[in-house]
Amino acid sequence: MRPISIAIDGPSGAGKSTLARSMAAKLGFLYVDTGAIYRTIGYFAHERGVDPKDEQAVAALLPQVHVELTYGEDGLQHMLLNGRDVTREIRLPEISLCASAVSAHPSVRAFLLEMQRELARSHSVIMDGRDIGTVVLPEADVKVFLTASAEVRARRRMLELEQRGTPEPFEKILREIEERDWNDSHRAAAPLRQAEDAVLLDTSALDFRQSEDALLRIIRERTGL
Ligand code: C5P
Repeated sequence: MRPISIAIDGPSGAGKSTLARSMAAKLGFLYVDTGAIYRTIGYFAHERGVDPKDEQAVAALLPQVHVELTYGEDGLQHMLLNGRDVTREIRLPEISLCASAVSAHPSVRAFLLEMQRELARSHSVIMDGRDIGTVVLPEADVKVFLTASAEVRARRRMLELEQRGTPEPFEKILREIEERDWNDSHRAAAPLRQAEDAVLLDTSALDFRQSEDALLRIIRERTGL
């Protein structure tokens, strides 16, 4: 059977990864978190002391980068940077803005494009990111643009960081979310936007279960699964 692709795009903190992971488990699909791939490049630049906004300097690093995506015994996606597992490090708050900055460079996007497409050729996937429905998988069977207001997203992120033991003040989280939204949607290379054929799902007023139900309904309607 031909693999099925489900593309989930939207701004940071909209709940894409939690929802996509749960859908993938329900459907038996591979979950691909493409943000983690950009974070891995952002982390490498940070570690090497390179300004993530400096396209030339970041591009010069790419030949030294080998990024791999593996699935651990826990079933979760792990990121390997030159063979080293950096899954935890790439979640540090300071890496979020580095990831957003490096992801604006066309050289970085081109470097990572084929890796993402290959995963979708060889598996049925739920892939989340910013440009999956528009650039990476324009022929995806289902495209969803998942969003929520910036305040709701900041509140969710604050809870997540608290649970992880790395709390941050609400105002700071909100400011960073707004900054990333602006960066992601104003960059020239693959800006965040809803694909014309994507279904809009706004979860501002929905809890997790309701969001799951809504997403599953959209997927089932379009794939007959
Ligand atoms: O999804 P997450 O917040 O982990 O992504 C980190 C950053 O990577 C985002 O702010 C965005 O700039 C970038 N990104 C992207 N394209 C994707 C996925 C993430 O530009 N497909």
